[in-house]
Amino acid sequence: RKDIGRITCGSTALDELIGGGIETQSITEVFGEFGSGKSQISHELAVTVQLPEEKGGLEAECVFIDTENTFRPERIEQIAGGFELDNEEVLQKIHIARAFNSSHQILMADKINELIQSGTNIKLVIVDSLTAHFRAEYVGRETLATRQQKLNQHLHTLQNIANTYNVAVFVTNQVQARPDAFFGSPTKAVGGHVLGHAATYRIWLKKGLAGKRIARLVDSPHLPEGESVFKIVTEGIVD
Ligand code: ATP
Repeated sequence: RKDIGRITCGSTALDELIGGGIETQSITEVFGEFGSGKSQISHELAVTVQLPEEKGGLEAECVFIDTENTFRPERIEQIAGGFELDNEEVLQKIHIARAFNSSHQILMADKINELIQSGTNIKLVIVDSLTAHFRAEYVGRETLATRQQKLNQHLHTLQNIANTYNVAVFVTNQVQARPDAFFGSPTKAVGGHVLGHAATYRIWLKKGLAGKRIARLVDSPHLPEGESVFKIVTEGIVD
């Protein structure tokens, strides 16, 4: 895989855990319980992708597929302020797509091709939350296979965008704090086979003491398992 780009998460420790920031041509899944910081990292990346390369960005724009109405322009303003960026300019480079249900979410992802082909320099696609609509709509055991199949189709679209246009894909997945939540990953199908054969990074977020967050890299094909600690402050994600 050539010309892989990387985007900083704001925290050096978190970047190092995943080999230097989230990668283009890959899907990075962050999972954890409510309030663990999944949406916060999403907001952070929507800003950092816009930074010049020497500051950890790709000087590019992003698509933010918002499924639970969690996107907050005020939060972007705080993070942009921390990097001394102009808030209006930053917001213009975040293409918000609100998805009302899972079919709409799938459609939104399908349309990203058109946006990129029209000349918009997209280097990051965020889906926050990847799984919420699917979980809400496909309830009960008998729907599990259909749910996984629809999710796979959606992930396949996202992986294609990542490969075709050298884009990073970042998805969030809320899981309960139980240990078996580990098996709730949409990017890892049954049997341990990672979807699409591409490098897929999975980060498990946990709440720590004193407002700290612990990130653990799991199931990585070519990076050691490990943990790092970061904080969420007014300016965003920091060490
Ligand atoms: P959910 O699954 O419920 O959406 P999440 O993992 O996306 O949860 P986030 O919204 O990313 O959770 O994180 C919320 C937490 O982030 C808050 O509980 C708070 O600790 C922290 N946080 C949010 N905004 C700020 C801020 N401006 N300053 C400091 N910390 C903040």
